[in-house]
Amino acid sequence: MHINAIQADITSLNVDAIVNAANTSLLGGGGVDGAIHRAAGSGLLSACRQLGGCATGDAKITEGFNLPARYVIHTVGPVWQGGERGEAALLASCYRRSLALAASVKARSLAFPSISTGVYGYPIGKAATIAVATVNAVLEDTSGVESVTFCCFSAEDFTVYQACLNQLSR
Ligand code: ADP
Repeated sequence: MHINAIQADITSLNVDAIVNAANTSLLGGGGVDGAIHRAAGSGLLSACRQLGGCATGDAKITEGFNLPARYVIHTVGPVWQGGERGEAALLASCYRRSLALAASVKARSLAFPSISTGVYGYPIGKAATIAVATVNAVLEDTSGVESVTFCCFSAEDFTVYQACLNQLSR
């Protein structure tokens, strides 16, 4: 198993599946969601329309259409409301459900964006800690997924994820 962090545009990655930080409608939005829909083309929106939305903490899967990635896993992170509204459990659930879906289609490499830390306002340090710990626990346990990349958009986020990953390997 292999876990790393990079700074990149997730739509450019040559992995089996990328994760989208979507909203409950699954009908597109801003941030990484908008970028993924733009790069995948209109087929992605048509496929998402068939899914009937997605609950917070859950995930659904489509093909990747024009993306280099074969699949897109759409997950809905929690909106940060101060931390006492179950946000941590919901965020961990996004990572677990996404890994389970990736394994179900035999995707071996998977890339995550920093779920909930954009418009949804989740503090980056807290979110990255949950992301790294949850993925590490699943990969150590059972999962067909062999390689997970945390795809950070900003240099600041990349530094935070790197620090969390360094904690793991100590
Ligand atoms: P959320 O609503 O879950 O907070 P956002 O899309 O607003 O989702 O932000 C999630 C993260 O995705 C943020 O760190 C944002 O900078 C990042 N992001 C935006 N565009 C891209 C992209 N093309 N590739 C990777 N990450 C991106």
